Amino acid sequence: MKTIGLIGGMSWESSVEYYRIINEEVKKRLGRLHSAKCLLYSVDFEEIERFQSEGKWEEAGNLLGDVALSLEKGGADFIVICTNTMHKVVENIEKKINIPILHIADATAKQIKKLNVKTIGLLGTKYTMEQDFYKNRIESNGIKVIIPNDSEIEIVNKVIYNELCLGSIQQSSRDYYKKVIKNLVNNGAEGIILGCTEIGLLIKQEDSEVPLFDTAEIHAIESVKTALGE
Ligand code: GLU
Repeated sequence: MKTIGLIGGMSWESSVEYYRIINEEVKKRLGRLHSAKCLLYSVDFEEIERFQSEGKWEEAGNLLGDVALSLEKGGADFIVICTNTMHKVVENIEKKINIPILHIADATAKQIKKLNVKTIGLLGTKYTMEQDFYKNRIESNGIKVIIPNDSEIEIVNKVIYNELCLGSIQQSSRDYYKKVIKNLVNNGAEGIILGCTEIGLLIKQEDSEVPLFDTAEIHAIESVKTALGE
């Protein structure tokens, strides 16, 4: 079994889910007392969020690059960055290390293709929804990505940083997300990417008439497959 190097803490509310899912998947596959070989470096999200809101992406990339390097030195065989948004700086991180990074958008696109979904709605932080780094990676798989309108993007983003990353799960926000999902479906989405690793804490499959792609769950399971050489 390979050792998974997790970069977590963005936020820790979803890193916990990664840790749980990864161990459950290893147990499901290997049985008995088996559990995942992994290292978790959990950062202080306040520092990362400040870099994001001040547009200091290079600094954020350098910080996460150093984190990845320490995981490599600690024995990690590959890196899993437990957030969609910070894949914006994946190249800065890659430059600092000699081990591969399992990209969250690649794992997600693989699942979307399996279900033969051609047009997908994307929910996430405003960075993930508005900028190209994530959408392009998905679209390079022949999948069309559509996003909510400007006012919806604003509120979806606010819920992530002001509620979900603080462990606050609100019915009113769930209702709002359900409305946004419905609008995306009306605009042609055949599935929805929960493209922020905390959204799965708020929205479940029963909240949507089309398939949901929970990036935290998909990424965690894909990391187990990689660790076990499947
Ligand atoms: N975990 C979230 C994501 O998947 C948002 C937190 C962050 O900005 O990293 O994008």
